[in-house]
Amino acid sequence: MPATSSPHTPQPAGTAPPGEVVLEARDLVKTFTTGRGGLSRTRVSSVDGISLSLRAGESLGIVGESGCGKSTLARMLVGLEVPDLGSISYRGHDVTAARRGDRRLLRRGVQMVFQDPYTSLDPRMTVLEIVGEPLTASRTGTRAWRRERVAELLSLVGLAPDLMERYPHQFSGGQRQRIGIARALALEPEVLVCDEPVSALDVSVQAQVVNVLRDLQRRLGVTLLFIAHDLSVVRHVADRVAVMYLGRIAEIGPTATVYEAPAHPYTQALLSASPVVDRARRGRMAARIVLDGDPPSPTSPPPGCRFHTRCRMARDDCRTDVPSLRRPSEAQERARLAACHHAEDALTRLEDVFGPA
Ligand code: SF4
Repeated sequence: MPATSSPHTPQPAGTAPPGEVVLEARDLVKTFTTGRGGLSRTRVSSVDGISLSLRAGESLGIVGESGCGKSTLARMLVGLEVPDLGSISYRGHDVTAARRGDRRLLRRGVQMVFQDPYTSLDPRMTVLEIVGEPLTASRTGTRAWRRERVAELLSLVGLAPDLMERYPHQFSGGQRQRIGIARALALEPEVLVCDEPVSALDVSVQAQVVNVLRDLQRRLGVTLLFIAHDLSVVRHVADRVAVMYLGRIAEIGPTATVYEAPAHPYTQALLSASPVVDRARRGRMAARIVLDGDPPSPTSPPPGCRFHTRCRMARDDCRTDVPSLRRPSEAQERARLAACHHAEDALTRLEDVFGPA
């Protein structure tokens, strides 16, 4: 039970024991149509067949380039977008196209921290109104109790409670993001979906906000889905990491395994260009993998493996056959999966990229 629990706070279905699946996505597909109509209408594939599960108390990082579908995935998981195909379940309840009761359950159990703290907070509302709004909307507690609860939430995210009568413009970007986190925690959700929560902030305050989230996870046992394009931020936060490319998961597994020995050529390329690779190994690094060009347009993704147009290891089968997620080698533990026909080869060539371990 979260440490901030109160008799007035709604409890959706108790709190799942650590390790139990709380949120599960199966075969999610989401396509958007752009343009006004007629010939100018274009279908954009944003998410194409993603399955994943979140276990109580863990943090799962999602990384990938802009436009890979990370944010669409996040919005489907919190019920802000409805998938075209596939299903989402929260604590065993199918909430895919949530009916009223299921929607309430999802809203209380799964909350979102938005990317931009400058636009996600209503400038006409005080912090008291912003953070207390989910409680007011759900008719939770008395007015006096809600005020107390807001003070408690502000303390939790490291803000002084006596700032609650102020307006968003009176705070820095990092403080505004803390306000957004406090608001997301108001209903004591089990899961926080954080959509690039630090990418709009100065580098100097990013670490502070990341530390607030890590601290909350430890203290409240909240489950985190943390989306970012910065690999070093994700390494700092996540127990597991999923790497997305053009609407699909390229690789998923324990963070230490994926960062130390990435099995998918795309993950290898991302890490070879990242400062998160251990300095000692980096000194022996043979060559940074340079990806040619931008990712292909999601309006006409390539057949077969979507990464084949930029992959240094692409072969004929990559251009026709879609790789499914599988264990990259018998020697690897079960928890890591990569969607690559030639992941075994990619692993054996790892030293070309990172140098010997
Ligand atoms: Fe590269 Fe082929 Fe693996 Fe795709 S399936 S990542 S193109 S080797």
